[in-house]
Amino acid sequence: MEFEAVIGLEVHAQLKTESKIFCGCSTAFGASPNTHTCPVCLGMPGSLPVLNKRVVDYAMRMALATQCSISPYSRFARKNYFYPDLPKGYQISQYELPIAEHGHLMVDTDQGRKKIGITRIHMEEDAGKLTHDSHRPVSRVDLNRTGTPLIEIVSEPDMRSPWEASAYLKQLHAILRYLDICDGNMEEGSFRCDANVSVRPRGQEEFGTRAEIKNMNSFRNVERAIAYEIDRQSTLVEEGGEVIQETRLWDAEKNRTFSMRGKEEAHDYRYFPDPDLVPLVIDEAWIEQVRGLLPELPEERKARFLEQYGLAQDDAVFLTSAREMADYYEACVEIFNDPKQVCNWVTGALAALLNAKGISVTESPISAQRLAALLKLIKDGVISGKIAKTVFECMETDERDPEAIVKEKGLVQVSDSGEIESMVQEVLDACPEEAEAYRGGKKKLMGFFVGQIMKKTKGKANPQTVNQLLKEKLDK
Ligand code: ADP
Ligand code: MG
Ligand code: ZN
Repeated sequence: MEFEAVIGLEVHAQLKTESKIFCGCSTAFGASPNTHTCPVCLGMPGSLPVLNKRVVDYAMRMALATQCSISPYSRFARKNYFYPDLPKGYQISQYELPIAEHGHLMVDTDQGRKKIGITRIHMEEDAGKLTHDSHRPVSRVDLNRTGTPLIEIVSEPDMRSPWEASAYLKQLHAILRYLDICDGNMEEGSFRCDANVSVRPRGQEEFGTRAEIKNMNSFRNVERAIAYEIDRQSTLVEEGGEVIQETRLWDAEKNRTFSMRGKEEAHDYRYFPDPDLVPLVIDEAWIEQVRGLLPELPEERKARFLEQYGLAQDDAVFLTSAREMADYYEACVEIFNDPKQVCNWVTGALAALLNAKGISVTESPISAQRLAALLKLIKDGVISGKIAKTVFECMETDERDPEAIVKEKGLVQVSDSGEIESMVQEVLDACPEEAEAYRGGKKKLMGFFVGQIMKKTKGKANPQTVNQLLKEKLDK
């Protein structure tokens, strides 16, 4: 039997506000346990929540960036469940009337561009954090995170493969970072994804039963977990078994998912409108004000990069995947106007450097200005492209301008033909047999001679001059 996968994603993004969603406590990460708390986020009886306007602004930005319509009237609801890190006994979320609905993203897949629907975006508060002691039968509760603002972005079950799911997810991630409303750190949990996966025999209209997978902290793990799950369910159905609706956890070490609990249903939560909060009313003027603040988004910027700089698709995708990377690239092109050359260096040497050091482009030891200065040295014939690689490496630890480094290390390219000519002669005199063989037809030996001269000059001889002079002398 041939199966088709059906995937829908629920993404929780932690918003970068300074204070919590319903009180004035700080959202700063890493403070001593329970120091960023007050009666509201501790769930004390008699305390009342007040909505943080910035949270609404941020949710609206995301809604507009994903073509959702924003509801003029939405409500908060109580989602009831007991958990030690949820002192109120309920989470304030949105249910029947979320802030935004009916959006979509256009995602590039191996079958071309595809529209992935966004069912809804809603606001909610995060729960606290439990730490389980591994030595003693004790768990600790830290309520600093309680009340941190989240938006949940729920997709339609429109994806059909792990790669489509991760392309969608990467685009959501990029948009949140471009909007500057979420830091996107997956390992610290500021960007979390639950994947709903089901399979159906190809050609069947009706969806199969879904399992929901949690606990994936990288794009790669999302892909692997979904692929595993598709496999598991297909095999199960093929062998006559039945998929049960449940919540499963991804184990990255064992490379498999395992059952955590049976799936709870909406009615289990006894949702009802939160009587402590007034309905949220958003007018056109507010929407337009937020729309006016939207930056250029990843897809638009990618399209502009393709058009304006004539880049290849892959390069444009890479350069615009993070706003800072795109800014770096454009800052460099602004000074050194050769978009393709800048692209080669940013996607090549620079990306390799950032990767090796595990840092982001904003932490790059080589600024866009210094990279542009280096490229100018190549263009002006001061150094060769090969020497530039060496200078680039020096620049990782040496803060000076590339000119200064080139001068101090004596890396300036030798273009003086008199100087090169005498070196060519020396090499030919030292290797008469090779010269003979070359003249006899072994033209490949040209590379050997060039190599000898580069060795003598530690790579500093202008390669064009070397080639030209060698030819002249050998062909004489
Ligand atoms: P819940 O909170 O109960 O998981 P939501 O409505 O918040 O419910 O999320 C449901 C998610 O599951 C959505 O992303 C939706 O697209 C997806 N989904 C629903 N049915 C299926 C299915 N049969 N197979 C795969 N995904 C599904
Ligand atoms: Mg769910
Ligand atoms: Zn508080």
